[in-house]
Amino acid sequence: MDGRQKSIVDSRRAQMFFDLEPAEIERVRRFGTYRAYAAGEALANVGVVAQGLTIILSGQVDILQREKAGGHRVIVTHGPGSFMGELAQLAGRPALIDAYAKTPVQALIISPERLRALLIAEAELGERIMRAFILRRVGLLETGGGGPVIVGRAGNGDVLRLQNFLRRNGHPHQSLDPEADEEAKALIDKFQVDPGQLPIVVCPSGQLLYNPTETELARCIGLLGPIDPNRVYDVAVVGAGPAGLATAVYAASEGLSVIVFDCRSFGGQAGASARIENYLGFPTGISGMALMARAFNQAQKFGAEMAIPTEVLGLDPPSADKAEHFVLKLANNDRATARAVVAANGARYRRLDVPGLEEFEAASVHYWASPLESKLCAGEEVALVGAGNSAGQATVYLASQAAKVWLLVRGPSIAASMSRYLVDRIQGLANVEVLTQTKISGLEGNDGMLEAIHWRDAAGKETRRPIRHLFSFIGVDPNTHWLAGAGVTLDPKSFIVTGIDARSHAGPLETSVHGLYAVGDIRSGSIKRVAASVGEGAQVVAALHGFFAEADRMEAVAARA
Ligand SMILES: Cc1cc2nc3c(=O)[nH]c(=O)nc-3n(C[C@H](O)[C@H](O)[C@H](O)COP(=O)(O)OP(=O)(O)OC[C@H]3O[C@@H](n4cnc5c(N)ncnc54)[C@H](O)[C@@H]3O)c2cc1C
Repeated sequence: MDGRQKSIVDSRRAQMFFDLEPAEIERVRRFGTYRAYAAGEALANVGVVAQGLTIILSGQVDILQREKAGGHRVIVTHGPGSFMGELAQLAGRPALIDAYAKTPVQALIISPERLRALLIAEAELGERIMRAFILRRVGLLETGGGGPVIVGRAGNGDVLRLQNFLRRNGHPHQSLDPEADEEAKALIDKFQVDPGQLPIVVCPSGQLLYNPTETELARCIGLLGPIDPNRVYDVAVVGAGPAGLATAVYAASEGLSVIVFDCRSFGGQAGASARIENYLGFPTGISGMALMARAFNQAQKFGAEMAIPTEVLGLDPPSADKAEHFVLKLANNDRATARAVVAANGARYRRLDVPGLEEFEAASVHYWASPLESKLCAGEEVALVGAGNSAGQATVYLASQAAKVWLLVRGPSIAASMSRYLVDRIQGLANVEVLTQTKISGLEGNDGMLEAIHWRDAAGKETRRPIRHLFSFIGVDPNTHWLAGAGVTLDPKSFIVTGIDARSHAGPLETSVHGLYAVGDIRSGSIKRVAASVGEGAQVVAALHGFFAEADRMEAVAARA
């Protein structure tokens, strides 16, 4: 962190750490159980699932954060009336801090499930506690406290992949570059790691992972727990973008049991947006990640279960001779069962048709422009391909960091496909050059890192420029492969057909399979906007209630017969 900048702990301390009034403690006693701790006893340890919200009734507790170079730093000392906990406690995930009783302590422990009930029952106090949880997480994100340590060369494709995964999932972490950090060298020596085995990840539990997959990392740090194959959820939501998270918030808040799967992280395409300026209620704009993180926390507050990262690979609808409910086939041979399924898994970016693209995709070709990418490009020239709003937003964002942005467009202008405000903004940027009727024709580089890009204009003139980062925003295709064999009607472009075009009695968001719904970008004819996806996520919950009411009626009739 920049030494001149104030940390969140300095600027928002009063909201992060406050005491409950005696009357408030009295009111919340019914949610908890009592426990006593001797001086020196641990109340929480990094990497171990904590008990939930802990309100200190008497005594003092030190909250400690582990430092990069070993050792601990006291973040805060809680006294009577104050409380321990942050976002991990909402979902029953492992703690990101250590907590030790400084004196004998009496505490009220509120389990994650009872905590969610408290947050809903006690609206005003719940709002203050929730805000404190979010700010405490932001504080941990600022320092990387309590998270895993990634050791590997900065800019290496796998290092970027792991950093991106943790950043997109709002999980603190630290990165150490063996070429620049003494601590990295010490860890490499300690674990006797060969340079070819990098990157490694040291989990808070002490477990060492060699260049792990996102799933291996998520399991090691407790982000992803086991899925109970015998539990029947009311609703399984596939995709945690705006449509899926809206479905989860409305369904869980109305008492349905909900599980949400996403193969990457929460937020979907919206989470990759540097600044969303057309979402109702945010006149100054909001970063996609900030908007989606709020929705994710909100869904967890209402009790939606998150299984991230988990890819849904297939779907078996209920049938008379087989299962009574939908069975979702998941990566790692796991399964989940639900009475209804909502497909909210959007679309995936198209890839440029240029030889050798794959070789550079990990480190030099980017499909979104977040602070991580913009840092990599600071002071450099970059090339960006695309002419839609996402390309426009990324151009404006990157231009604030990069020395120059070359915007390469296949068509004759950007005005036909980009919103006017973005076109105007781009025209006002001195370090952006728009090249129309131009295509990327070649890539040059070594070890997965780009060194130069070639492009060709309409007259066939080829240009070569020494550019190390290429951004691609050329549209998306629907993620409908997992529905193959499930009997779902798709349109000619493979988007899911809903409503009466799918089946004569289907509701507006229902597919050709009764009980399977589609919302957001994956739906044929959808408006590809965050607000439209959120609206459909809210709307589908009414349809789900209708579906369950009908299913319950049928069951009652069958039981009477
Ligand atoms: C860079 C960028 C900027 C944008 N800016 C704006 C803007 O300013 N304003 C605006 O209104 N719109 C904007 N959009 C469009 C908007 O983000 C999308 O319309 C919206 O995100 C669609 O939401 P969704 O939930 O339907 O799908 P998505 O956002 O695509 O989310 C789908 C999720 O499903 C997951 N998934 C896919 N397949 C599977 C599977 N088999 N199993 C499990 N999970 C799966 C994905 O990982 C993803 O997280 C932007 C898009 C991009 C790419």
